[in-house]
Amino acid sequence: MRGLMLEGLDLRKPMSGRKIAILRIQTEVLRVMVERLLEKGFYWILPVILSKSTDPLWPDPEFSIEKKVEVEIYGEKVSAMQSMIVHKRVLVSLGPEKIFILSPNIRIERRDRAATGRHLYEFTQFEVEVAYAKMQDIFGIYEELITESIKYVRKHLSRELEVLGRELKIPQTPFKVYKRSELEEKYGASWQDEVSRIFEDPIWVTGIPREFYDYEDPETGEWRNYDLILPEGYGEVISGAEREYEYEKLAKKLERDGLDKSNYKILLDLAKEGLLKPSAGAGLGIERFIAYIVGARHVAEVQPFPRIPGIVPEI
Ligand code: ASP
Ligand code: MG
Repeated sequence: MRGLMLEGLDLRKPMSGRKIAILRIQTEVLRVMVERLLEKGFYWILPVILSKSTDPLWPDPEFSIEKKVEVEIYGEKVSAMQSMIVHKRVLVSLGPEKIFILSPNIRIERRDRAATGRHLYEFTQFEVEVAYAKMQDIFGIYEELITESIKYVRKHLSRELEVLGRELKIPQTPFKVYKRSELEEKYGASWQDEVSRIFEDPIWVTGIPREFYDYEDPETGEWRNYDLILPEGYGEVISGAEREYEYEKLAKKLERDGLDKSNYKILLDLAKEGLLKPSAGAGLGIERFIAYIVGARHVAEVQPFPRIPGIVPEI
């Protein structure tokens, strides 16, 4: 893995044409996505990095975190942001009802995750949250962002695609939706890798038992959450959900998961007052999405300063 990265990136030499083509594509993709959301009236929120309240990332079948980065500031313990889920919920409840954030996340993934080609210990999510939205609304938003980005790259950055030797197909919308249980039944425990290789277009997968903040239907027991799985082995690129907003359910689920309620006090207080709005949202892993567009072998190839699990670089 170390060899793979150094091959394309020696930080004491000018960048390769390949690396520069990737950065050009990333620049334009971010512009297309930001412009689309601004046209729809979204507020652009800047990220928070250190907080008492962050995504527990647990429980989640994909959990592979080696440690949570915690530091003391002004005599108080805070964590490096694992995702801004709590902040997103608070914001859309108190003010702007449609927001997006380019949010840097630190997730100290286990070292063996370097070999998946999909994990980084620092990455950036393109986060969206919308008050009163449902799953279908969020599907529509990201389907548009993804297809419009790809169309733009094909139309205006064909030279860069050529440098990269990448043939990029425009996916058909709407993307197909599957239940996790049916995929697991058909493809077994490693269903994610299987479907990522089998399907030619991205697919939505719903009904994934995980963190307390994703909505669980009390009648059916179904989780109204979703992942988007990219084809060609690139795997999961978006996670999101409709959200829990009722105090009793939130409190019960935090207890069920063995989490410290004091880290989620604002969320719980708002819910108790009936001020926490129902919402839905998701986050797209920017580096994974760009890796797919450019056909990278390892997601770190799209980072100017690679953050591969287990490898702490000089810079
Ligand atoms: N961004 C995700 C969400 O909105 C949470 C995550 O990072 O997994 O649900
Ligand atoms: Mg998650």
